[in-house]
Amino acid sequence: MRTIGLLGGMSWESSAEYYRLINQQVRDRLGPLRSARLLMYSLDFGPVEQAQHAGRWDDAAAILVDGARRLQAGGADCVLLCTNTMHKVAHQIQAAIEVPFLHIADATAQAALDAGTLRVGLLGTAFSMEQEFLKSRLAGHGLQVLVPDAPQRQQVHRIIYEQLCVGIISEASRQVYQQVIDSLQAQGAQAVILGCTEIGLLLKPEHSPLPLLDSTELHARAAVAFALGD
Ligand code: GLU
Repeated sequence: MRTIGLLGGMSWESSAEYYRLINQQVRDRLGPLRSARLLMYSLDFGPVEQAQHAGRWDDAAAILVDGARRLQAGGADCVLLCTNTMHKVAHQIQAAIEVPFLHIADATAQAALDAGTLRVGLLGTAFSMEQEFLKSRLAGHGLQVLVPDAPQRQQVHRIIYEQLCVGIISEASRQVYQQVIDSLQAQGAQAVILGCTEIGLLLKPEHSPLPLLDSTELHARAAVAFALGD
C-alpha cells in the first residue's frame, strides 16, 4: 500500500473527514482491521485565511509549499491538498514536489463524467465560485459550470467561514443552501458540486433536490485508489 500525504487544517473540520473517509474506504476494500498508511500535515489555518482575504496568495502558497515538502520528506507517495480554495496555488505546490499531486477538481470532474452529468452547479467559497482556477479545471474535463448569483455567493461564502469551518451546523444555513441549489436547478444544473471540503458536513444527499458531488468524498476516493494501485 502506498502512503497518502494529506495537507490539511483548512479547516481541520474537513481534514478529520478526509481521515475518516480514507480509513473507512480502505477497511471496506481490504478487511475490518485494515487502515490507510497516511501522513497528515495539519497547519494553522489562521495565517492562510488572512492571506486569502488580503489577496496575498504567494504568502499562502509559501506556507503550503513548505507543508507539501514536509509530507514528501516524511515518506508520502502522493500529496492531496484538503481544500478546494487553496488549489488556486496548486501549480506552485506541484512544482515543489516530485511525488504526484492529486488535484481535487480532477477527482470531482471524473465523478460527474461517470454519472453522465455535464452541466453542474458549483458551491464553494467566493474565491472558488468567482475565480477561474477551479472552474477552468472542471471545464477542461468537458463540464459546464454554473454558479449562484452574487448575493447567494456571498451567503454561501459567509456560512463556510463563519460556521462550517468552526464546526457550526445549523438548520437555517442548510435551508439557505437548499434555496441556492433550487436556483442552480432552475438555471439547468443536473447535479451540484460541493466544491468546498466542509459543505458535506451540512448537506447530505437527502437534503438536496439534485445529486451531490462531494469533493471531499471524491478526493478521498482518489487517494485510496492511488494508495491501493487501482
Ligand atoms: N475548505 C474550504 C474549501 O474547500 C474552505 C477553506 C479554505 O479557504 O481553504 O475551499
